[in-house]
Amino acid sequence: SDTLLQVQELTKYFPIKQGVFRRTVGHVRAVDGVTFELRQGQTLGVVGESGCGKSTMGRSILRLIEPTSGVVEFEGKNVIKMSRGQMRAMRREMQIVFQDPYASLNPRFSIQQTLMEPMVIHGLYTPAERAKRVRELLERVGLDPDYAKRYPHEFSGGQRQRIGIARALAVNPKLIMLDEPVAALDVSVQSQVLNLLEDLQQEYNLTYIFVAHDLSVVRHISDQIMVLYLGKMAELADSDELFHDPLHPYTRALLSAVPIPDPDVKRERIILQGDLPSPANPPTGCVFHTRCPMATDVCKQKRPEWKEVKPNHHVACHLY
Ligand code: SF4
Ligand code: MG
Repeated sequence: SDTLLQVQELTKYFPIKQGVFRRTVGHVRAVDGVTFELRQGQTLGVVGESGCGKSTMGRSILRLIEPTSGVVEFEGKNVIKMSRGQMRAMRREMQIVFQDPYASLNPRFSIQQTLMEPMVIHGLYTPAERAKRVRELLERVGLDPDYAKRYPHEFSGGQRQRIGIARALAVNPKLIMLDEPVAALDVSVQSQVLNLLEDLQQEYNLTYIFVAHDLSVVRHISDQIMVLYLGKMAELADSDELFHDPLHPYTRALLSAVPIPDPDVKRERIILQGDLPSPANPPTGCVFHTRCPMATDVCKQKRPEWKEVKPNHHVACHLY
């Protein structure tokens, strides 16, 4: 299949301002040099602890926040260079599903209004078609079409997230950025929503960027997985490859927290020392060295290069 999205050296720096004159005294490198390619119909999983830049990365790609630099090519067109008008049309192709199903739906809008809003914004369909489409969308995400007349407070977290997904689907996007879509849901509801997302991907050939802090959540749905640490890519590989041969010590630590169904397979539990350092004042050399059980002197001084160690398996670590 064809490349839908190509991201090169994407960065987002937030200025740190201090004093009465709000002078810029430095920058937080929230996203620092993210590069990847995603084909239509595929899923990129993006994992890391909270504060590692996952959401900022996703939002920068969609230009919900303005990136500082880099290239985001969607179907060969650089999104970063687009005018407001071009961007408006583009938004239809790139939708987002938010983490918190309680905060992301307007409580004063009926479900019908909620699902119609993006169609109205993009000038799609006649009013009668919109109403019909609302019912179809609700049915497609596993809800009763008669729920259209109800309001968000009448629904559970899982149902609200289904409504959030229907809203993203309303304008027929190609790319959906899923920002921790199941993190706020009960475990039993999580798998239902994940199954729904997989079915919808198959049916509509959707491309996903799936952000999560938990590797087990993205494992099955992802074709590739990117591990982010302090805004930088630590590792990028096909999903199965990453689980079978994790290379970066940070990936290994994240994986060691994932339960293994097979009791014969033993995996050492790696507990990370300390907290995530402040992205405003990242460690020298390898940004992970303050917490890495494998760190040596070179790690404190030299930033590791991004290397393709095996076909399609990249890592930034001096061990390789
Ligand atoms: Fe650990 Fe050094 Fe590799 Fe960084 S470069 S992950 S500190 S071993
Ligand atoms: Mg987040």
